[in-house]
Amino acid sequence: MAAPPRTPISRRALVAGTLAAAGMKRVGAATSKPDVAVVGAGVFGAWTARELQRRGRRVLLVDAIGPAHAGASSGGESRMTRGLYGGDEVYTRMALDSLEAWKALSDRSALPLFHPTGVLMFFDRDEPFARTSRAAHVRLGLPLQELSHGELEKTYPQVRWDGIAFGLLEPGFGVLMARRAVQTLVAEFIAAGGDYLQEAVLPPTGETRIESLATRSGAALIAGDYVFACGPWLPKLFPGLLGGRIFPTRQEVFFFAPPPGDARFEPGRLPGWADFNGGDIYYGMPNLESRGFKIARDRHGPAADPDTLERQVSADGLADIRAYLARRFPALAAQPLVESRVCQYENSSNGDLLIDRHPLLENAWLVGAGSGHGFKHGPAVGRYAADLLLGQLPAAEPRFSLSSKASAQDRSVH
Ligand SMILES: Cc1cc2nc3c(=O)[nH]c(=O)nc-3n(C[C@H](O)[C@H](O)[C@H](O)COP(=O)(O)OP(=O)(O)OC[C@H]3O[C@@H](n4cnc5c(N)ncnc54)[C@H](O)[C@@H]3O)c2cc1C
Repeated sequence: MAAPPRTPISRRALVAGTLAAAGMKRVGAATSKPDVAVVGAGVFGAWTARELQRRGRRVLLVDAIGPAHAGASSGGESRMTRGLYGGDEVYTRMALDSLEAWKALSDRSALPLFHPTGVLMFFDRDEPFARTSRAAHVRLGLPLQELSHGELEKTYPQVRWDGIAFGLLEPGFGVLMARRAVQTLVAEFIAAGGDYLQEAVLPPTGETRIESLATRSGAALIAGDYVFACGPWLPKLFPGLLGGRIFPTRQEVFFFAPPPGDARFEPGRLPGWADFNGGDIYYGMPNLESRGFKIARDRHGPAADPDTLERQVSADGLADIRAYLARRFPALAAQPLVESRVCQYENSSNGDLLIDRHPLLENAWLVGAGSGHGFKHGPAVGRYAADLLLGQLPAAEPRFSLSSKASAQDRSVH
């Protein structure tokens, strides 16, 4: 018996989508074909959808579970934004370009989305990363304060500075409230007339273009162009193309309670920070919104499947973090763990982003490979993706191309 025809998506199906995030009350009324369907409402999909909408396109945003949901890479509490990128100046510029958009979104939001804590990176020696970062900041006219060992001790006595030669402080950067920011942006997109739908899209078919996208519930999504901003799920949608080029890894994040009455770990007393540690970076954030002092190790964990990953931290991971705390933040070493999260990076071979047209499907666009540092770049990624799709890109960035993505992991972007 022939398979029943797939039902085109209808207003009723749109209404059936669960808009769980705060403020997402309005469901779009579009029943006609959208110009663009954006699959994935993480930070990259949300900014791409909003930017295309801002340029007059009718956009349908689709997510299998919900904007910045708990299992998505954008679903955490907080993400650092910084301009320190060593010699990878393209990301310093993107972080800077994005910061204004983040601040503007934060200003429009009832609750803060950006906390201007400043970001301090510290080094045990004058690493090439520090030297090239300084040079990039000079070229771009970006403020950067250098603090000697003695100045670090005086300014941040709550940190044990043994072995640290100096720190680089970016006063203008800070921390983005990740989940809240993405959900606020999607709510804005919907309020401005965009359509949001909760559907799990199946891998696309077609030889030269996508005519429609089938969903797990049996619907068919029809649009002019299709953007796939599916984070760590990208290799599942395009196994042949991206299976060997995007590597999701398991990452652990910890929050510790500061000692009662101890204000030394509050924003204002402690910036966002990263210990370069010879490239094996530990990073963290002050006790933002009383959630706890956040800390994580940036080293890639084991390979991870975002659909089946158990979100429980390991005893080894916790012991490693406590040992680090004892070394650098002794007042927190024995403090209780108040929250932990397991998330996944979606790494390209070297850490570069992927923003490119599908090599065979002329109306399909790939946006992803945030590689543990992508969140801050959301607004710039959205602009770049919109430029690319609309044929308005002044010059393509070779580092974002699919062809630059190798099949062996060799991280160079931090
Ligand atoms: C622990 C951790 C710490 C990090 N720290 C920082 C930091 O400090 N600063 C920074 O800038 N970056 C940081 N990052 C990186 C950053 O968070 C990610 O690069 C970024 O969030 C990736 O966003 P995304 O939109 O590509 O993916 P996601 O947020 O994962 O979104 C993809 C979406 O696509 C949807 N989707 C997938 N498949 C389908 C389908 N078939 N149908 C419909 N929907 C689908 C998913 O449900 C999901 O919502 C960190 C990441 C992690 C994990």
